[in-house]
Amino acid sequence: MNSEAARRVPVLIVGGGPVGLALAAELGWRGVRCELVEQSDGAIATPKMNEVNTRTMEFCRRWGIADAVRHCPFPDDHPLDVVFVTSLAGHELARMRRPPRGEQRPGSDSPERMQICSQIWFDPILRAFAQKQPSVALRHRTRLESFTAAADGVTAELHDLDGGRRETIHADYLVGCDGATSAIRETLGIALTGQGTLGHPLHLFFRAQDLLKRCGREPGVFFLAIDRDGLWANIRVVDPVGGLWRLMALESDGKQTPGSVDRAGLLRRAVGRQLDVEWQDVSIWTRRSLVAERYGRGRVFLAGDAVHQLSPTGALGMNTGIGDAVDLGWKLAAVLQGWGGPQLLASYDAERRPIGLRNVAMATEFHLAHGEFRGSMAAIEDDSDAGRALRARLGASLARDVGRMFRTAGLQLGYRYEASPLCVADGTPPVPDDPENFVPSARPGSRAPHAWLGDGRSTLDLFGRGFVLLRFADADAAALEQAAKARGVPLAVVDVGEPAAADLYERRFVLVRPDGHVAWRGDAIPTNANVLIDRVRGAA
Ligand SMILES: Cc1cc2nc3c(=O)[nH]c(=O)nc-3n(C[C@H](O)[C@H](O)[C@H](O)COP(=O)(O)OP(=O)(O)OC[C@H]3O[C@@H](n4cnc5c(N)ncnc54)[C@H](O)[C@@H]3O)c2cc1C
Repeated sequence: MNSEAARRVPVLIVGGGPVGLALAAELGWRGVRCELVEQSDGAIATPKMNEVNTRTMEFCRRWGIADAVRHCPFPDDHPLDVVFVTSLAGHELARMRRPPRGEQRPGSDSPERMQICSQIWFDPILRAFAQKQPSVALRHRTRLESFTAAADGVTAELHDLDGGRRETIHADYLVGCDGATSAIRETLGIALTGQGTLGHPLHLFFRAQDLLKRCGREPGVFFLAIDRDGLWANIRVVDPVGGLWRLMALESDGKQTPGSVDRAGLLRRAVGRQLDVEWQDVSIWTRRSLVAERYGRGRVFLAGDAVHQLSPTGALGMNTGIGDAVDLGWKLAAVLQGWGGPQLLASYDAERRPIGLRNVAMATEFHLAHGEFRGSMAAIEDDSDAGRALRARLGASLARDVGRMFRTAGLQLGYRYEASPLCVADGTPPVPDDPENFVPSARPGSRAPHAWLGDGRSTLDLFGRGFVLLRFADADAAALEQAAKARGVPLAVVDVGEPAAADLYERRFVLVRPDGHVAWRGDAIPTNANVLIDRVRGAA
């Protein structure tokens, strides 16, 4: 096709997994025109993700889809317990109680909570939301074949896999959300670094109604199996109503194929007895610990598994990727709308890569904790005093050490943009970045904390569209409003009178970015407010 006839889109997104869909959702919510191409038909053959963490739920709340996630077909009354067992029908070593969704109330740190919502439901919710945005076009069965990037835009070759048509499209920006094997990352020559391959787990999906009842096991959602050879598998109920289960054997020799896997043998070991099930699927995947050296080049950006590949221990994969999409989304919108400065997009790498490194390191640590429970545990299944004593001892240490991957409030909400060129440090020391315990903070770079407002909203409900200046005192903010207006930066000033919020935010003025992170705070508007506005919009 001749290039004059080629269409132009502001943003071309490649990959319709959860991260590409989240970016389309974020851009669509901001009214930015974008096109997403996905080579598959969107059907999910083997669902991976099940846990939508609290921060992702906060983004869903902003997009107006949190209720849809909360009311996905996972039953409201199914306990979310994590249980350590010798097998489903065997001994129980420890149980971490987590109440069913129907009994959960928001904690003090967020108006939302982590939700169990398999990718079989979550991706379609995101997709439907993105599709509803007038500025978003989603195209399935369309593959990016190649691209060339120049200083003024990107030219991409697309292939309609059903009709066979090939098309050239010009984009102001290209975003590769094309997963772990990202061809866009390869083309850009960006390497992945880190510990590399950690193992080759096996996934076995099957249907079995009333499995727990048949095993005499109290309900739960995630079962970790430890037998005479140590901790070797986990068994997750994906869809209790449909009876869909996933058995994950933590290790294999890396040489097996889906056809050579001894499904029946693994199932017998995990359940502790012979059981007839309806087999669905077997997949073998690679557990990795890797982060890209950079998150893009020029007008091409990368997000999600394309730039960070981590062990699912801690449920950080998709959730980290959605954080990437939200960070990049408002910045692309700002630049395309004309108020983002020339350094704004470069801050994506400076802000998000350290979070990728942090989360990959923690996921790897959680995975390595399993290794402490490998090896022979000869008496573990014995009905003897020695067996009971071993199970009690192991149960306590399993819940403490392996169970850490389920106690991650700090990891989910406590990430902050320390080295951000956009945030103005205020000289206060950082609060601890403790994976387990979240410490709210309004220090610049942090996620602006949640507090309930008198009208029933959360402070988080104030953020999103543009910048928000929270004002906790009767003081003049006109200079900042004028500076923002002069640069075309959307800014709303919101007076907050609730003492609990004032205590959390600690200053008379707090400037919050469109992604809900604090950009600046102080007791007076700086004399040269233009300098502040230029800094936070990436023009300084
Ligand atoms: C067992 C397991 C459990 C997990 N559980 C969780 C969890 O509970 N919570 C969590 O946050 N994460 C979890 N994860 C991780 C999560 O599944 C991934 O991080 C997430 O799916 C990555 O999303 P993505 O959109 O970046 O990539 P992908 O989901 O891989 O999507 C990439 C898409 O790009 C498309 N594509 C590639 N190349 C092209 C091209 N040239 N043209 C068009 N389309 C293209 C592909 O078809 C694909 O659909 C888990 C992972 C595993 C393995």
